[in-house]
Amino acid sequence: GLNDQVVQGLIDQSANTSFVYDSYRRFLQMFACVVFGIPHKPFDDYLSSNRRKHRSDSNRDITIEDGKEIVATFKEIIRRYASREFPTDPLTQLRLATEAVFRSSRGHRATIYREAAAIPQDIGTAVNIVTMVFGNMGSDSATGVAMSRNASTGEHELEGDYLPNAQGEDVVSGTQHTKAIGDLKLEMPEAYKELETVSAKLENHFRDMQDIEFTIERGKLWLLQTRRAKRTAMAAIRVAVDMSDEGLITREDAVRRIKPEQIDFFLHPQFDASTLRASKSIATGLNVSPGAAVGIAAFDADTAQRWAKEDGRPVVMVRPETKPEDVHGMLAAEGILTSRGGRTSHAALVARQFGKPAIIGCSEVKIDLKARQMMVGEMVISEGDWISVDGTHGDLYIGQLPTITPDMSNPYLLTILGWADEIRKLEVWANADNPQDAIRARQNGAEGIGLCRTEHMFFGPDRLAHVQEMIMADTVTSRKEALDKLLPMQRADFDGLFRAMDGLPVIIRLLDPPLHEFLPPFDELVKDLADLKVRMRHCRTLSEIDEALDQIRVKENYRERLINLREDNPMLGTRGVRLGILYPEITTMQVRAIIEAACECANDGIDVKPEIMIPLASHVNELRIQRQLLDAEAQEVMKDYPITVTYKFGTMIEIPRAALTADEIAETTDFFSFGTNDLTQTTYGISRDDAESSFLVSYLQQNILTDNPFATIDSQGVGKLMKLAVTAGRKTRPDLEIGICGEHGGDPKSIRLCHNLGLDYVSCSAFRVPVARLAAAHATMN
Ligand code: PEP
Ligand code: MG
Repeated sequence: GLNDQVVQGLIDQSANTSFVYDSYRRFLQMFACVVFGIPHKPFDDYLSSNRRKHRSDSNRDITIEDGKEIVATFKEIIRRYASREFPTDPLTQLRLATEAVFRSSRGHRATIYREAAAIPQDIGTAVNIVTMVFGNMGSDSATGVAMSRNASTGEHELEGDYLPNAQGEDVVSGTQHTKAIGDLKLEMPEAYKELETVSAKLENHFRDMQDIEFTIERGKLWLLQTRRAKRTAMAAIRVAVDMSDEGLITREDAVRRIKPEQIDFFLHPQFDASTLRASKSIATGLNVSPGAAVGIAAFDADTAQRWAKEDGRPVVMVRPETKPEDVHGMLAAEGILTSRGGRTSHAALVARQFGKPAIIGCSEVKIDLKARQMMVGEMVISEGDWISVDGTHGDLYIGQLPTITPDMSNPYLLTILGWADEIRKLEVWANADNPQDAIRARQNGAEGIGLCRTEHMFFGPDRLAHVQEMIMADTVTSRKEALDKLLPMQRADFDGLFRAMDGLPVIIRLLDPPLHEFLPPFDELVKDLADLKVRMRHCRTLSEIDEALDQIRVKENYRERLINLREDNPMLGTRGVRLGILYPEITTMQVRAIIEAACECANDGIDVKPEIMIPLASHVNELRIQRQLLDAEAQEVMKDYPITVTYKFGTMIEIPRAALTADEIAETTDFFSFGTNDLTQTTYGISRDDAESSFLVSYLQQNILTDNPFATIDSQGVGKLMKLAVTAGRKTRPDLEIGICGEHGGDPKSIRLCHNLGLDYVSCSAFRVPVARLAAAHATMN
């Protein structure tokens, strides 16, 4: 509503000309930028030259003459850039401003933001038209943003910043050094006290932490807006637990409020305390979003995005302050550093929301965008140099500091996970191939091992030679000899797993990959052979020749065997149970190792619950043959000890035919475990190894598929097969134990599907277990 006439009227009524012209020039600039899309720069440049002229560091001490000059210049800028006059009619101003809000909500920046925050694009917006209150009326006025609790830690205290004699834009744009909200207590105790009371009242009403924008106009507190406060993962968890303890929300509400990504945060890197003690930080700012970020400095959003996305280089985005148009760079970066701004600045809010470690308002850093470098004292850091950002403490380091994955001992996190455990129906197991992983999984709350891929044990440096010997054997006897050497090693592996999981089930899967994976690659062998033959020509002694010939013979044997094993589609070839059928000795050795380890552990008082799993079955006959073999070997072992351990026999369901014939398959099995990696591959006919680097990317970009089916279960296709298998399997065998061990077992959306299908458990990597515990609780709550 401001125009020359209104300004004159205001001046006639109040003596405070500074205030009137300060408001007018703000309005002109804001209107020009928001409505006409004129850049801020010509306005800001003029204001800073004006400040220099008056030797002032504020725009707010304006005389009438000064004010008139600013207004004239701003109107001239508008004329020049927008090719039209500044509209003086208040209703025209209102209409244009309203339209600008709708335009901005449909703009590129808002679209990207909604995409990143998973907000539907068609959500729409509203325009609120409200009476203005003024924080720039003098020293008894102020404006600021307050969080009802600490947005970084969740502590129960007012947090935020403000500026006396200013307007909101000065605070949130991050362009000015704001004051901490605690200072308001001393400067305007009455208003502060009222703010505290109102903050508590709003929390009580909304039952959540609030982000409040306020203005104090001549000592009177006004609230401009309140909304749910953005917060770090750490704060989110603490606030949820505290609010439940305070009786504001229920435990279910608290669990519902935590997003799986927020749990994930605790599993992400931090700098460890000893590294920090041994390193010297070069500057300190506000610790607005915790975590460790190491990357090369990039001084604008496009560069940050390009380096991170196209070149795959970790980046820290460095800016004096950030604006909404920088969000794509911030999302691509590992972390964020700004030289200006407060805890509620744009940079701080975005960093917190997306879990990016950030240091904000690091004023010791002088950024020179033109020279693409920053200075801390004498030290010059150029774009592309490595820096390390400690968002937990607000400290900046030069170079690459090593990071560690934090432990899970945060008491609030443990409380939330404990509450999630009380709510969820699905059990959470882990995929683990060795005792260390099993121990970590158990510490993270795993209730069983859902998949031990025994082939991973075959790749150890002391094992591979024996595995190769086994593959090269041309008689059953020589193959058994090689397997006998592997037996004690496998037994020791299983022993470790059983001890780590005392009292909990451990599913051990028999050998799965095609055998050629254990031999050297064919091309490498051909090259080695050629090299050896050249070398032999230079041999001088008989023994040198003999040695070379020996080596050539071994390699030629490998080559021959590889030619024999060669398949056009090894993923669809002799792997999984097919190996066990062709080479029953492998099954027998693995079963012996499992049952011997189980008997020994049982003898030591360990409560062992072995479950033996057959991979890639597609026909019930395969399982009948394997079960017969396996039961016979297990009985043999138990006779020797003599002790009886109970074990389960089951199969992976990872071929559509297995799902389709689940009723038959359940006749001979005690459990199913969905191998959704292979089940997705074979249902979709998409190679799991190649797809993600080829056409699938473009399918996702074109929205042909909404989710990557290797990350989130395709509910209409793969999910339908799973449903069929669960129903048919349980019809044959109501007590059939059913779980999932494909990568999807740690994906929240897939976990929801598994819950809805009535699975008993999901199994995922040890690191994902806490996320899965929460996601399983969410699945029960809708
Ligand atoms: C699967 O196929 O989902 C599975 C767990 O087995 P792997 O990934 O070892 O083939
Ligand atoms: Mg598989």
